[in-house]
Amino acid sequence: MLNIVLFGPPGAGKGTQSAKLIEDYGLVHLSTGDLLRAERKAQTPLGIKANQYIEKGNLVPDEVVIGMIENKIKEYPNPKGFIFDGFPRTVPQAEALDVLLAHHQTAISTMIALEVEYNELVERLLKRGADSGRADDQDENIIKNRINVYNNETLPVADFYKKQNKLASIYGIGEIDEIYNQISIALSKVKVF
Ligand code: ADP
Repeated sequence: MLNIVLFGPPGAGKGTQSAKLIEDYGLVHLSTGDLLRAERKAQTPLGIKANQYIEKGNLVPDEVVIGMIENKIKEYPNPKGFIFDGFPRTVPQAEALDVLLAHHQTAISTMIALEVEYNELVERLLKRGADSGRADDQDENIIKNRINVYNNETLPVADFYKKQNKLASIYGIGEIDEIYNQISIALSKVKVF
């Protein structure tokens, strides 16, 4: 299996690049942000609880997202691989994912980390908010909080994979296809489990 962690701050382009990867590599896309928004839309107890965190730009508790990912992985008995998008966002989530994948006799192949500067992120998110109506993309204070949360709680996850020699950093500003090309080159060098 080719299992990718697609990593980067809010607005780095994870969703855009995921869409291309899914198509070309036949991978299953697991985005905790999308899953949480679907739960919220369906007004499930999990979705209602998660929204209290999402609307402030804070992280949903680890056990909630880990449980969600665990259930989703089970739904796919024989995948070519997974793209984890927006997960893991904390070191405990990364540790839990390693254990989960080991239970399925597999592992993360690589982390692709998209690097984008702060000002560009804020600009992209405000634009996305205006286009999509997504509430957490419309308020500059919430956006800033999300980027702070990323720097404090999520960035250590990159070190976690670096220690496993699985970190590939890609500059995320430029033409979408050129960035994708860099990702493809990085993927051609990784181990498939
Ligand atoms: P972004 O575009 O900011 O990367 P996502 O769509 O991935 O956002 O996630 C939106 C919100 O959902 C986050 O701000 C957070 O509140 C919550 N969320 C998503 N994934 C996780 C996760 N792995 N752990 C905790 N909270 C999460």
